[in-house]
Amino acid sequence: MLSLDTFKFCMRCGHAIELKSESGRLRPICPRCGYIHYFAPQVAAVAIVTRAADEKFLLVQRGENPGKGLWGLPGGFVEMGETVSDALTREILEETGYEIEIGELVGVWSFFNDARKIAGVALIYETRVARGELRIASDSTNATWVTYERALEFPLAFESHREALRCWADANVKKIG
Ligand SMILES: [Zn+2]
Repeated sequence: MLSLDTFKFCMRCGHAIELKSESGRLRPICPRCGYIHYFAPQVAAVAIVTRAADEKFLLVQRGENPGKGLWGLPGGFVEMGETVSDALTREILEETGYEIEIGELVGVWSFFNDARKIAGVALIYETRVARGELRIASDSTNATWVTYERALEFPLAFESHREALRCWADANVKKIG
């Protein structure tokens, strides 16, 4: 993702860019052609991947930053031209080898990295494995099926994933006793 100080030159005319205030925010603005770059949060589609056999879901170990080596839910950014469903289906297939059926939206979380210079919005869905075999690839280095209680023992990369899992478990995991 890009932050405010990424741009050095105008994307339209190539002139050196300046950071100036516009509509109450500091933005990259070209003094020659007037181009203004508006930053917007990126949209991430994220899955709680479940299976029919039990109440476990898939945690993946991240192979890339942010959170390299830590664990989280699989997913990724929505690309231009994709729907959120397209992106989620693609990302989960790439990362885990599973084709999924997308279920309920668990929730929407805003997230920030790098002292809030980088921002995104995560849409986190409950999904179910439709077919395929676990095959780790793409940005992940490991994956494991876990219960909600077990997941809490893993070092999780993102608070949004932790909160989504709590919401999901409150609604879905059968209470014992
Ligand atoms: Zn320009």
